[in-house]
Amino acid sequence: MSKLDDVLNLAKIKGYFWPSFEIYGGVSGFYTFGPLGTYLQRDIEELWKDIFVKPFGFIEMDSPDLLPYQILKASGHVDNFKDPMAECKKCGAKYRADHLLKEAGVEVSEGAEPYYLEALLNQNKVKCPKCGGQEWSVKLYLNMFETNIGPYAENKGYLRPETAQGIFVEFNSLYNYNREQLPMGVVQIGKGYRNEISPRQGLIRLREFHMMELELFIDPQEEDAPDLPDDQKLRLLHEKARESGEPEELTPKEAYQKGVIKTKWLAFFLYLSKKFLSSIGVPDEKQRFFEKIAGERAHYSAQTFDHEVFIDELGWTEVAGFAYRTDFDLKSHMQATGKEMYAIKRKALSTKTSVIINREELMKRENWKELIEMKPEVRADGVYLGSIRLNDKEYKVIQEVEKEEIRKFIPHVIEPSFGLDRLTLVALYYAYNKKEGRNIFSLPKGLLKNVVAVLPLVSKDEFVKKALEVRDILVNYGFNVIFDDKGYIGKRYARLDESGVPFAITVDSKTLEDETVTVRDRDSWSQDRIKIRDLPSYLRERTNWRL
Ligand code: AMP
Repeated sequence: MSKLDDVLNLAKIKGYFWPSFEIYGGVSGFYTFGPLGTYLQRDIEELWKDIFVKPFGFIEMDSPDLLPYQILKASGHVDNFKDPMAECKKCGAKYRADHLLKEAGVEVSEGAEPYYLEALLNQNKVKCPKCGGQEWSVKLYLNMFETNIGPYAENKGYLRPETAQGIFVEFNSLYNYNREQLPMGVVQIGKGYRNEISPRQGLIRLREFHMMELELFIDPQEEDAPDLPDDQKLRLLHEKARESGEPEELTPKEAYQKGVIKTKWLAFFLYLSKKFLSSIGVPDEKQRFFEKIAGERAHYSAQTFDHEVFIDELGWTEVAGFAYRTDFDLKSHMQATGKEMYAIKRKALSTKTSVIINREELMKRENWKELIEMKPEVRADGVYLGSIRLNDKEYKVIQEVEKEEIRKFIPHVIEPSFGLDRLTLVALYYAYNKKEGRNIFSLPKGLLKNVVAVLPLVSKDEFVKKALEVRDILVNYGFNVIFDDKGYIGKRYARLDESGVPFAITVDSKTLEDETVTVRDRDSWSQDRIKIRDLPSYLRERTNWRL
């Protein structure tokens, strides 16, 4: 069995995730997340927000999963969101044409035309995985789930293939909320749906999956991006480097200055993405950024990089896509609806300064009658009436814009888009190892950060009672507690190691005497003796968990 098979098996047994609807024979492309999978996903999501969202004051929103036809027609999805479908002429089985070719060892780029794929399949006598037939026809197939909204067949709708459109159509409200400031980052975390032709890669290719998307609206003339780091390298298989097949190592700053990455923010996001994947446990050398060239890119993108992770059994696998969407989406929705979606920037060209005298304050001076007739004069060191310099309370300076330039423009968009299911698998894949014949998911301690196990050493009443007390304390502090009092303690530890639970807290006879427990670390197997009241802070410190 391969490592990936081991990981998938263990993930299923331990309650991370498994193929859905198995009692009905299963339907490919759907996975169910169990308790540990749900916790893990949530922590990956939190970590992503800590890196991509919170430090920049970006905002979050939640829009419907179902979109009316008109939105996806305007966005170009109805016409372009299509995959090449190969149909076996003998048995009628249907597959992604480019995937069939790749599996048969025929290299083909994404976005190749159907007639070309058909010729390649037939010339190379690629066998149908179902019946062995070797004759194919290829056509384009719309990748979206279609339905009707309400009882009217003409009210067509689609499950969203990306969360992004829900953001674009609400641009005006969001821009308003953001006090008309750019750059404006808007995040949506939710499900995406793609009616994949024949998903055969488990969790990698799903028909319903979790996405974390960030649409960053910028002024294309003034990006206003953070300074680009120059001390860390990104492995970039950019358009030019693809000719040799060798990634070029460049810092984000170099990549932007050399024009390899077209926008500053995109370069910055790639840097953040590497940081993020490192923190979920993916080694640097197992990460790279692959640039998609024209023809391979989605219809809305002027530049795309995929963040890829190497998985031995699957090769380089995309976990996130970064697209420079320009003003494509806002412009399309403006054209379709006639509604304006502009940002406005004002720049003062000239200003007028005037001074208002506070008469009440001035009247405290003896010679006020004389002073009040004079015209105030603003000098470098203050405001004067004649030769008298006024104190701060006696006047107010007002600056008014006389002439200003108002620039109205459609913001450009830079989009990082992450697949949470793939990230969950990748985290487990790189966490999986063996110690003394035992499987362990050694996840980074920031993942499953608020899951702990509480175990009475033996299942005697007084131990169980105390252990339940410890459980209640931890639950009050927001931990998710796995309580396990069944079986020999060594077996319970082994079960927890395999599950990847970071800490096991054991109540023993000493606990009853001095209110201390042992805390066992999943990775080192070492045990610390800790006072019960210190447990929450001890655990939080070790998992870097910020409340
Ligand atoms: P895309 O918009 O195609 O760049 O997708 C963004 C991210 O969503 C990808 O990098 C994947 O991580 C994830 N993703 C896309 N399609 C699927 C799918 N069929 N199943 C699971 N994850 C997907």
